[in-house]
Amino acid sequence: MRSKLVAGNWKMHGGIAQNRVLLDLIVTGTTGLRGADCAVCVPYPYLPQVQSLLQPTHIFWGAQNVSQHEKGAYTGEVSAAMLADFACRYVIVGHSERRALYAEDSHTVALKFRATQTAGLTPILCVGETLEQREAAVTEQVIAEQLDAVIELLGVSALAKSVLAYEPVWAIGTGKTATPQQAQDVHAFIRNRIAAHDIKVATELQVLYGGSVKANNAAELFAMPDIDGGLIGGASLVADEFITICRAAQS
Ligand code: PEP
Repeated sequence: MRSKLVAGNWKMHGGIAQNRVLLDLIVTGTTGLRGADCAVCVPYPYLPQVQSLLQPTHIFWGAQNVSQHEKGAYTGEVSAAMLADFACRYVIVGHSERRALYAEDSHTVALKFRATQTAGLTPILCVGETLEQREAAVTEQVIAEQLDAVIELLGVSALAKSVLAYEPVWAIGTGKTATPQQAQDVHAFIRNRIAAHDIKVATELQVLYGGSVKANNAAELFAMPDIDGGLIGGASLVADEFITICRAAQS
Protein backbone atom coordinates (compact mmCIF):
# COMPACT_ATOMS: atom_id res chain seq x y z
CA MET A 1 0.00 0.00 0.00
CA ARG A 2 1.52 3.30 -1.10
CA SER A 3 1.43 6.23 1.30
CA LYS A 4 0.49 9.65 -0.01
CA LEU A 5 2.59 12.78 -0.34
CA VAL A 6 1.50 16.39 -0.69
CA ALA A 7 4.35 18.68 -1.74
CA GLY A 8 4.06 22.44 -2.05
CA ASN A 9 5.92 24.21 -4.82
CA TRP A 10 6.30 27.81 -3.68
CA LYS A 11 7.85 28.84 -7.03
CA MET A 12 9.36 32.34 -6.74
CA HIS A 13 7.26 33.41 -3.78
CA GLY A 14 8.05 33.96 -0.14
CA GLY A 15 9.74 36.25 2.33
CA ILE A 16 11.33 35.71 5.73
CA ALA A 17 8.38 37.10 7.70
CA GLN A 18 5.60 35.54 5.65
CA ASN A 19 7.34 32.14 5.50
CA ARG A 20 7.39 31.97 9.29
CA VAL A 21 3.67 32.68 9.57
CA LEU A 22 2.77 30.23 6.79
CA LEU A 23 4.95 27.42 8.12
CA ASP A 24 3.72 27.84 11.71
CA LEU A 25 0.14 27.49 10.49
CA ILE A 26 0.95 24.48 8.28
CA VAL A 27 2.82 22.67 11.04
CA THR A 28 -0.05 23.16 13.48
CA GLY A 29 -2.75 22.40 10.93
CA THR A 30 -1.18 19.13 9.74
CA THR A 31 -0.18 17.68 13.09
CA GLY A 32 -1.38 14.11 13.52
CA LEU A 33 -1.89 13.43 9.80
CA ARG A 34 -2.27 9.69 9.08
CA GLY A 35 -0.83 7.94 6.02
CA ALA A 36 0.39 11.06 4.29
CA ASP A 37 3.59 13.08 4.25
CA CYS A 38 3.77 16.81 3.60
CA ALA A 39 6.64 18.81 2.15
CA VAL A 40 7.40 22.31 0.93
CA CYS A 41 9.80 23.06 -1.93
CA VAL A 42 11.04 26.59 -1.43
CA PRO A 43 13.35 29.10 -3.15
CA TYR A 44 17.03 28.42 -2.36
CA PRO A 45 17.63 31.43 -0.08
CA TYR A 46 14.98 30.26 2.36
CA LEU A 47 16.41 26.78 2.87
CA PRO A 48 18.27 27.70 6.11
CA GLN A 49 15.11 29.27 7.53
CA VAL A 50 12.94 26.36 6.48
CA GLN A 51 15.46 23.86 7.83
CA SER A 52 15.53 25.53 11.22
CA LEU A 53 11.74 25.91 11.44
CA LEU A 54 10.83 22.44 10.15
CA GLN A 55 13.62 20.28 11.56
CA PRO A 56 11.69 19.53 14.76
CA THR A 57 8.43 18.91 12.88
CA HIS A 58 6.81 16.26 10.67
CA ILE A 59 7.05 18.43 7.51
CA PHE A 60 9.80 17.73 4.95
CA TRP A 61 11.36 20.34 2.69
CA GLY A 62 13.17 20.56 -0.59
CA ALA A 63 14.23 22.67 -3.57
CA GLN A 64 12.65 23.40 -6.94
CA ASN A 65 15.66 22.88 -9.19
CA VAL A 66 19.28 21.72 -9.10
CA SER A 67 22.33 21.79 -11.32
CA GLN A 68 23.13 18.65 -13.27
CA HIS A 69 26.81 19.31 -12.50
CA GLU A 70 28.61 18.28 -9.36
CA LYS A 71 30.64 21.49 -9.01
CA GLY A 72 32.65 23.96 -11.04
CA ALA A 73 32.41 27.14 -13.09
CA TYR A 74 28.62 27.30 -13.39
CA THR A 75 27.79 30.80 -12.19
CA GLY A 76 24.43 31.04 -10.49
CA GLU A 77 23.90 27.30 -10.22
CA VAL A 78 23.30 25.24 -7.06
CA SER A 79 24.54 21.67 -6.69
CA ALA A 80 22.71 18.75 -5.14
CA ALA A 81 25.42 18.44 -2.48
CA MET A 82 24.68 22.04 -1.45
CA LEU A 83 21.00 21.14 -1.09
CA ALA A 84 22.01 18.14 1.01
CA ASP A 85 23.88 20.55 3.31
CA PHE A 86 20.48 22.02 4.17
CA ALA A 87 18.95 18.59 4.72
CA CYS A 88 16.58 18.80 1.76
CA ARG A 89 14.66 15.61 1.24
CA TYR A 90 13.16 16.44 -2.18
CA VAL A 91 14.22 18.25 -5.34
CA ILE A 92 11.70 19.02 -8.09
CA VAL A 93 13.26 18.24 -11.48
CA GLY A 94 11.77 18.87 -14.90
CA HIS A 95 8.98 21.20 -13.81
CA SER A 96 7.23 22.41 -16.95
CA GLU A 97 8.21 26.01 -16.16
CA ARG A 98 11.88 24.93 -16.24
CA ARG A 99 11.34 22.96 -19.44
CA ALA A 100 9.50 25.85 -21.16
CA LEU A 101 11.24 28.96 -19.79
CA TYR A 102 14.78 27.61 -19.36
CA ALA A 103 14.87 25.17 -22.27
CA GLU A 104 15.52 22.11 -20.11
CA ASP A 105 15.17 19.07 -22.32
CA SER A 106 14.44 15.57 -21.09
CA HIS A 107 18.10 14.53 -21.17
CA THR A 108 19.10 17.51 -19.01
CA VAL A 109 16.26 16.66 -16.64
CA ALA A 110 17.56 13.09 -16.44
CA LEU A 111 21.02 14.41 -15.55
CA LYS A 112 19.46 16.53 -12.81
CA PHE A 113 17.57 13.49 -11.58
CA ARG A 114 20.88 11.61 -11.38
CA ALA A 115 22.67 14.48 -9.61
CA THR A 116 19.85 14.60 -7.03
CA GLN A 117 20.05 10.89 -6.27
CA THR A 118 23.84 10.91 -6.18
CA ALA A 119 23.63 13.42 -3.32
CA GLY A 120 21.18 11.14 -1.49
CA LEU A 121 18.08 13.26 -2.16
CA THR A 122 14.78 12.26 -3.72
CA PRO A 123 13.87 13.74 -7.11
CA ILE A 124 10.26 14.65 -7.83
CA LEU A 125 10.26 14.16 -11.60
CA CYS A 126 7.60 16.22 -13.37
CA VAL A 127 6.09 15.08 -16.65
CA GLY A 128 3.15 16.46 -18.59
CA GLU A 129 1.77 17.57 -21.90
CA THR A 130 0.78 20.99 -23.22
CA LEU A 131 -2.76 21.77 -24.39
CA GLU A 132 -1.66 21.55 -28.04
CA GLN A 133 -0.18 18.12 -27.39
CA ARG A 134 -3.33 16.91 -25.65
CA GLU A 135 -5.47 18.20 -28.49
CA ALA A 136 -3.17 16.50 -30.98
CA ALA A 137 -3.68 13.26 -29.02
CA VAL A 138 0.03 12.82 -28.31
CA THR A 139 -0.15 13.00 -24.49
CA GLU A 140 1.14 9.45 -24.03
CA GLN A 141 4.02 9.90 -26.48
CA VAL A 142 5.10 13.11 -24.74
CA ILE A 143 5.04 11.53 -21.31
CA ALA A 144 6.77 8.39 -22.53
CA GLU A 145 9.62 10.48 -23.94
CA GLN A 146 10.01 12.41 -20.66
CA LEU A 147 9.96 9.21 -18.61
CA ASP A 148 12.14 7.16 -20.93
CA ALA A 149 14.95 9.75 -20.79
CA VAL A 150 15.44 8.83 -17.12
CA ILE A 151 14.99 5.09 -17.66
CA GLU A 152 17.50 5.09 -20.55
CA LEU A 153 20.13 7.03 -18.60
CA LEU A 154 19.77 5.34 -15.22
CA GLY A 155 17.68 2.19 -15.61
CA VAL A 156 14.21 1.65 -14.24
CA SER A 157 15.54 0.82 -10.76
CA ALA A 158 16.45 4.51 -10.32
CA LEU A 159 12.73 5.28 -10.19
CA ALA A 160 12.45 3.25 -7.00
CA LYS A 161 13.99 6.10 -5.05
CA SER A 162 12.03 8.88 -6.66
CA VAL A 163 8.59 10.44 -6.85
CA LEU A 164 6.80 11.21 -10.13
CA ALA A 165 4.42 14.09 -10.70
CA TYR A 166 2.02 14.15 -13.61
CA GLU A 167 1.38 17.82 -14.28
CA PRO A 168 -0.58 18.66 -17.42
CA VAL A 169 0.88 22.00 -18.47
CA TRP A 170 -2.57 23.33 -19.37
CA ALA A 171 -3.68 22.84 -15.75
CA ILE A 172 -0.76 24.58 -14.03
CA GLY A 173 -1.67 27.93 -12.54
CA THR A 174 -4.70 28.18 -14.83
CA GLY A 175 -7.45 27.13 -12.44
CA LYS A 176 -8.27 24.39 -14.97
CA THR A 177 -7.87 21.00 -13.30
CA ALA A 178 -7.77 17.67 -15.08
CA THR A 179 -10.85 15.69 -14.14
CA PRO A 180 -10.09 12.85 -11.76
CA GLN A 181 -10.63 10.40 -14.62
CA GLN A 182 -8.37 12.32 -17.04
CA ALA A 183 -5.63 12.36 -14.41
CA GLN A 184 -6.19 8.71 -13.47
CA ASP A 185 -5.89 7.63 -17.12
CA VAL A 186 -2.45 9.23 -17.44
CA HIS A 187 -1.32 7.96 -14.04
CA ALA A 188 -2.31 4.44 -15.08
CA PHE A 189 -0.42 4.87 -18.35
CA ILE A 190 2.70 5.94 -16.42
CA ARG A 191 2.44 3.03 -13.99
CA ASN A 192 1.86 0.51 -16.78
CA ARG A 193 4.81 1.80 -18.76
CA ILE A 194 7.08 1.38 -15.75
CA ALA A 195 5.52 -2.01 -14.96
CA ALA A 196 6.61 -3.22 -18.38
CA HIS A 197 10.16 -2.86 -17.02
CA ASP A 198 9.64 -3.72 -13.36
CA ILE A 199 6.32 -4.43 -11.66
CA LYS A 200 7.63 -3.89 -8.14
CA VAL A 201 9.02 -0.44 -8.96
CA ALA A 202 5.75 0.48 -10.67
CA THR A 203 3.60 -0.75 -7.80
CA GLU A 204 5.57 1.04 -5.10
CA LEU A 205 6.20 4.35 -6.90
CA GLN A 206 4.36 7.44 -5.66
CA VAL A 207 2.83 9.29 -8.61
CA LEU A 208 1.49 12.72 -7.67
CA TYR A 209 -0.96 14.85 -9.63
CA GLY A 210 -0.28 18.57 -10.07
CA GLY A 211 -2.26 21.30 -11.79
CA SER A 212 -4.64 23.65 -9.97
CA VAL A 213 -5.22 21.28 -7.04
CA LYS A 214 -7.25 23.19 -4.45
CA ALA A 215 -9.00 22.46 -1.18
CA ASN A 216 -12.25 21.84 -3.06
CA ASN A 217 -10.98 19.27 -5.59
CA ALA A 218 -8.13 17.47 -3.81
CA ALA A 219 -10.21 14.71 -2.22
CA GLU A 220 -11.75 13.49 -5.48
CA LEU A 221 -8.36 13.49 -7.23
CA PHE A 222 -6.62 11.68 -4.37
CA ALA A 223 -9.39 9.06 -4.30
CA MET A 224 -8.30 7.74 -7.70
CA PRO A 225 -6.39 4.44 -7.48
CA ASP A 226 -3.16 5.61 -9.14
CA ILE A 227 -2.98 9.12 -7.66
CA ASP A 228 -0.76 9.19 -4.60
CA GLY A 229 -1.05 12.81 -3.58
CA GLY A 230 -0.31 16.16 -5.16
CA LEU A 231 2.28 18.70 -6.20
CA ILE A 232 0.66 21.98 -5.27
CA GLY A 233 1.61 25.41 -6.60
CA GLY A 234 -0.62 28.39 -5.83
CA ALA A 235 -2.63 26.69 -3.08
CA SER A 236 0.54 25.81 -1.16
CA LEU A 237 0.95 29.51 -0.32
CA VAL A 238 -2.40 29.72 1.44
CA ALA A 239 -2.28 27.94 4.79
CA ASP A 240 -5.95 26.89 4.98
CA GLU A 241 -5.92 25.60 1.40
CA PHE A 242 -2.71 23.64 1.83
CA ILE A 243 -3.77 22.15 5.17
CA THR A 244 -7.09 21.00 3.70
CA ILE A 245 -5.26 19.43 0.73
CA CYS A 246 -2.87 17.62 3.11
CA ARG A 247 -5.82 16.38 5.12
CA ALA A 248 -7.52 15.13 1.96
CA ALA A 249 -4.51 12.85 1.45
CA GLN A 250 -4.99 11.06 4.76
CA SER A 251 -5.79 7.36 4.75
C1 PEP B 1 2.99 23.54 -9.92
O1 PEP B 1 3.59 24.61 -9.98
O2 PEP B 1 3.63 22.48 -9.88
C2 PEP B 1 1.53 23.56 -9.89
C3 PEP B 1 0.89 22.44 -9.93
O3 PEP B 1 0.94 24.81 -9.80
P1 PEP B 1 -0.62 25.11 -9.50
O4 PEP B 1 -1.04 24.21 -8.37
O5 PEP B 1 -0.66 26.55 -9.14
O6 PEP B 1 -1.36 24.79 -10.75
